[in-house]
Amino acid sequence: MSHPFTGIEACADMDREIFFVPDKMRGAPKRRYIANAVAICNTCPIMDACLSYAKDQNGTVGVWGGQEFDGLGFVSVATLTGKTMEVAA
Ligand code: SF4
Repeated sequence: MSHPFTGIEACADMDREIFFVPDKMRGAPKRRYIANAVAICNTCPIMDACLSYAKDQNGTVGVWGGQEFDGLGFVSVATLTGKTMEVAA
């Protein structure tokens, strides 16, 4: 599957680094960082295609299609926090 980016995605003009948690970030700052990225994905017109693309790749890391990937598979935000996280739109 080719990547779904066509220029209409919500992150088209953004620094993609905001979708990758800095290595040493943990706990609440990490959850806020991910929530910010997920909030952007939640406004994206190609969110489903982005998520499908990310699931098809091996070793995906970062936030794609509103989910965080840890290199082994996708990790939902709910799993990371132990409860549903409220994400500002
Ligand atoms: S779903 Fe998120 S990471 Fe994927 S293209 Fe849209 S904004 Fe970017």
